[in-house]
Amino acid sequence: MPDDADLCLDKASDFELATLDRYAKARLDEILPESIATGMEKGAVICRDPCSGKLSTTPVRTGETKHTVAVPTYEPNCGCPERTVPVAYYHTHPSEAGGQTAVPGARVASDFSDDDKDIARDYGLIAYIAQRDGSMWRYSPPVRVFFLNGVRTLQDESDARQAKEPVLLNLKVATKAKR
Ligand SMILES: [Zn+2]
Repeated sequence: MPDDADLCLDKASDFELATLDRYAKARLDEILPESIATGMEKGAVICRDPCSGKLSTTPVRTGETKHTVAVPTYEPNCGCPERTVPVAYYHTHPSEAGGQTAVPGARVASDFSDDDKDIARDYGLIAYIAQRDGSMWRYSPPVRVFFLNGVRTLQDESDARQAKEPVLLNLKVATKAKR
């Protein structure tokens, strides 16, 4: 018998960005209201089962200091369960854009901070953020990963040089808790 993972190789490269966008929005809907209420960032990694295409999330982390949250990208498989593949990470920006951060002279980003983009590049993950006003952004790092025969693979070098700007999505994240 082939290994289970071998049975789904044909489906492994299917990847729908719109599906990922909606999944990230639903997760951000769950965490942005409380993040705004406490002023602390929240976030996690999105994992994908290459057999079923099913998306899941690692447990949500909450920042211990303002303006940062440690999503588990530095853990094995970015904190995703075995037999799933990390595909994206998401977090909240509960502070007003343009406000002062703890770092002298540094301002709250109106979309992704440089650190946010670095994480996306370093781990080949698509990044999502929800801002205080409910706007949602996607950043696709210049070096993207794709799934070839179930294996996470870096994009062709020639594509990697095309730097991409963050995209403001036409999705509004909930900013108030549901009763
Ligand atoms: Zn951020």
